[in-house]
Amino acid sequence: MTFILETSKVVYSYGDGTKALKGVSISLEEGRKIALVGPNGAGKSTLLLMFNGILRPTSGKVLFRGQPLQYDSAHIREIRRKVGMVFQNSDDQIFAPTVYQDVAFGPVNLGFSKEKMKKHASYALQYVGLSGYERRPPHHLSGGEKKRVAIAGILAMESEVIILDEPTSNLDPASSEEIMDMLDELNCGGKTMIISTHDVDLAYRWADEVVLMEDGRVIRRGTGPEVFGDADLIKKARLKLPIVVDLYNELSCRGLLKGGKPPQSMLELTDLLESNARGSISQRREAPGRIHLCNVDGADPESIIDILEKSHLSYSGAMGPNAKVVAERSGIPLDFTYGVIDKCILKAIIGKSSLIMTSGRMMDRAMSRIRTYGKESGVEIEVIKLTLPLGSHTVVYGPGQARYKMLS
Ligand code: ADP
Repeated sequence: MTFILETSKVVYSYGDGTKALKGVSISLEEGRKIALVGPNGAGKSTLLLMFNGILRPTSGKVLFRGQPLQYDSAHIREIRRKVGMVFQNSDDQIFAPTVYQDVAFGPVNLGFSKEKMKKHASYALQYVGLSGYERRPPHHLSGGEKKRVAIAGILAMESEVIILDEPTSNLDPASSEEIMDMLDELNCGGKTMIISTHDVDLAYRWADEVVLMEDGRVIRRGTGPEVFGDADLIKKARLKLPIVVDLYNELSCRGLLKGGKPPQSMLELTDLLESNARGSISQRREAPGRIHLCNVDGADPESIIDILEKSHLSYSGAMGPNAKVVAERSGIPLDFTYGVIDKCILKAIIGKSSLIMTSGRMMDRAMSRIRTYGKESGVEIEVIKLTLPLGSHTVVYGPGQARYKMLS
């Protein structure tokens, strides 16, 4: 097992004597989605600041790939490149006069050549769906856009780990969903993601591993169901249960749900309710709907519109920033922008077909989720992989365009 980050007996006291960490020893696996959860003042932000050397432990050690962090300027610069940090308040992070300069700041500091810097900054901006925003002053952007600029700045440095302190605080629900969807896709591309949050619903549905903190200590770690399955512990940590767990517990108390473990998603809860009511969800009479999977990377957007018009699909969703940009610029209305696979499965169960637009690296994840679901539930959902003709024109991305604009 590879641990990308570890702490050993880390204690940290701020200048005024506040003891924020009281002996934290944890090891985090590479390639995971990890959520530090806890009430305000638990020490989440302080621990995150340890991971990339912004703070140095009063005692104890922090290790990156098994090597203790060294705090001289050359090593610190290196660790901050490998472990990128997105602050809770974007205004603490974004300060250059234009979006482009801000995103290029990291690569410039790292001494990238002009050409490499340009390539990295442009790709990062395209990735977060902000191509065309290069010359804009960051302080004119919305909260969600600022967050995406901050993420682009980290991506431009090719960080291996991306840390986000309370990534959705102060964002509206749609922007929060977009950010979490982006974090999913980045994780799918191999990045280790660590967030802090006191939003238990978000942590429960998103994280592979939950680290519960209270009063400067880690008091439990495990999968969402493992950590949130202990209602007394959650109460002690002054948190609430995720809504699906709370509902599951209340229904179980009334004898309406028998057996099983707490569901991790709305899909699992709905299945559990249905199989309790009918005996099994594979007993349904109507045939399940199909799920069409479409890789939008480099595809001709007109052909997607064509498919939508011809296939009589009831719902469409997009996973990842690139697919959302394609949908927006092509004028394709989206029913689902987060939790897309589960939502399409929920619709398939009631006989409705859907289209999932996504980029190449997410295709396998979607496929495997639907297949696993089929095996576990006994409901075989047909998946149609669509191969689209590649766009023969140059695609112009730009803010405010209703559709793709083709050149020549
Ligand atoms: P969380 O992120 O879980 O809300 P923090 O890591 O921000 O927790 O804070 C842990 C403790 O350290 C709290 O008691 C907080 O008041 C204190 N603290 C945080 N930042 C500072 C600071 N700059 N100076 C003094 N105390 C601080």
